[in-house]
Amino acid sequence: MYRTHTCGELRIANAGQTVTLAGWVQKARKLGGMTFIDLRDRYGVTQLVVEADAPAELVGTATALGREFVIQATGEVLERQAKNPKMPTGDIEIKVSAINVLNKSVTPPFTIEDESDGGEDLRMKFRYLDLRRGPLKKALMLRHRIAHEVRNYLDGLGFMEIETPYLIKSTPEGARDFVVPSRMNPGQFYALPQSPQTFKQLLMVAGYDRYFQIVRCFRDEDLRADRQPEFTQIDCEMSFVEQEDVLGTFEGMMRTLFKNVLGVDVPNPLPRMSWYDAMDKYGSDKPDVRFGMEIHELTDVAKGKGFGVLDGAAYIGAIAVPGAAEYTRKQIDELTEWVKRPQVGAKGLIYIRVNADGSFKSSIDKFYAPEDLAKIAAAAEAKPGDLLLVLSGDAKRKVQTMLGVLRLEMGGRLGLRDPKVFAPLWIVDFPLLEWDDETQRFYAMHHPFTAPKPEHEKWFYSNKKEDLERVCANAYDFVLNGNELGGGSIRIHNADMQKRMFEVLGIGPEEAEYKFGFIIHAFQYGAPPHGGLAFGFDRVCALFGGQDTIRDYIAFPKNNQGRDVMIDSPSEIDQSQLDELKLILDKSE
Ligand code: ASP
Repeated sequence: MYRTHTCGELRIANAGQTVTLAGWVQKARKLGGMTFIDLRDRYGVTQLVVEADAPAELVGTATALGREFVIQATGEVLERQAKNPKMPTGDIEIKVSAINVLNKSVTPPFTIEDESDGGEDLRMKFRYLDLRRGPLKKALMLRHRIAHEVRNYLDGLGFMEIETPYLIKSTPEGARDFVVPSRMNPGQFYALPQSPQTFKQLLMVAGYDRYFQIVRCFRDEDLRADRQPEFTQIDCEMSFVEQEDVLGTFEGMMRTLFKNVLGVDVPNPLPRMSWYDAMDKYGSDKPDVRFGMEIHELTDVAKGKGFGVLDGAAYIGAIAVPGAAEYTRKQIDELTEWVKRPQVGAKGLIYIRVNADGSFKSSIDKFYAPEDLAKIAAAAEAKPGDLLLVLSGDAKRKVQTMLGVLRLEMGGRLGLRDPKVFAPLWIVDFPLLEWDDETQRFYAMHHPFTAPKPEHEKWFYSNKKEDLERVCANAYDFVLNGNELGGGSIRIHNADMQKRMFEVLGIGPEEAEYKFGFIIHAFQYGAPPHGGLAFGFDRVCALFGGQDTIRDYIAFPKNNQGRDVMIDSPSEIDQSQLDELKLILDKSE
């Protein structure tokens, strides 16, 4: 037996027992002839002591220990003189009578303690060492815990976990596919799934009316910060359901997670907001509703005073930042530069200080008399002491989106975005389609398997752009603190309607048949009404852990360039492998 206890287990009640522990030497230090060793394993750290008067051989072994040596140590549990209340095992130490070095270690490239001196890149390269650190262990433990709660909850409701294939057919929608060449079918390729969407729908056709899977998905996107080319979803689908059934089932799941994992009660039922309201009031389809500072439209009230920028705008909107009337000129200049950054994209920023005494000071005083500014302030519901920030432009949603980004920034600066406060909600009633000016075609806002609301079907079959733009879907997103944690929809289950959808999306009958024939055919064999959703599992974990980056919640993540720097991948393959696959590389670039 290698050990009688783990390094996180012993307490004062164990005093007097002889125990054997095994683990890694986090740190060994000499103090007045004694050697103190912090021994670490997955469960915690326990202090070992080798007394100055211990047998010379033992003292010699202890002295020779280096960081990350793997040892087995036997000794007696003693109450500590100097207790450490920060450590669960801090009341005791082990008076060591024997040490067995199981394996040596070279000096690690960074200190493996809760606070490390290693930079991000170095820790990624030695991820297996980084994973020994407390914060990462805590993150992976939380991930395990959430997965367990999810399985428990869904199993309790009769959901079956069913695996779907990873080698599928390339049908890019939204993101690019990762493709895998087929050796046995030269010139042909599999694709890795962006999600199991079509397979879960085929499972519904097959009659497995409650499915889920905690599943890896792959998207070959240009990596934005905190995106991973492979990530995990809690993917779910149900048959014979309406939107209400899906929302009820999965807010129940989230409520259970909040309660069982975090001990947090969230409202029952959860609030809901239409996509239109979210865009109008928060400039985002994933609003952070932990604070107010809503967007107010000023298009009518702010025009007509001879100020060209506003008079020529199609949309004018503002947020009132509470208590910020005191902002100095310098602070406002900095904010103006901030909104002009490409990430926000505004051309400029208009401000109106609503002073505590009710007077105004603005960047547009030349054009607007105090009573004009008062009207604007009233329309924006600004109170004395607020700073009104105004943006305008020629496209309503674009300006709203900028105001939404500014709102989040100001919320952050005012400390209104506490990661320990949770404000989940559903966003519902998404438009079915989104027009893209550049390509002059519609795209599915969620995905092409989402059904129009039955009462909007008349517009769905119309050929007018305005009609198609009006069609809404029973599509929904689960949003938490400004993050989209999940989303789904009620699906099309009728072959003709699915064909119409492809037609609306500019996918001709032949292309539709080639790419999606399998699902259109399946719908001819008795497809039940169905719907579902998927949660971004990595992000659920990160937000539950109070972090905004998912990387710590994935055991072996990729870096921002999509590389695994630990195994050095992607990498070139041998000529013989290329030959087998009948692939010739174009090395001209
Ligand atoms: N497959 C969808 C996604 O990955 C989720 C869903 O509609 O169920 O976003």
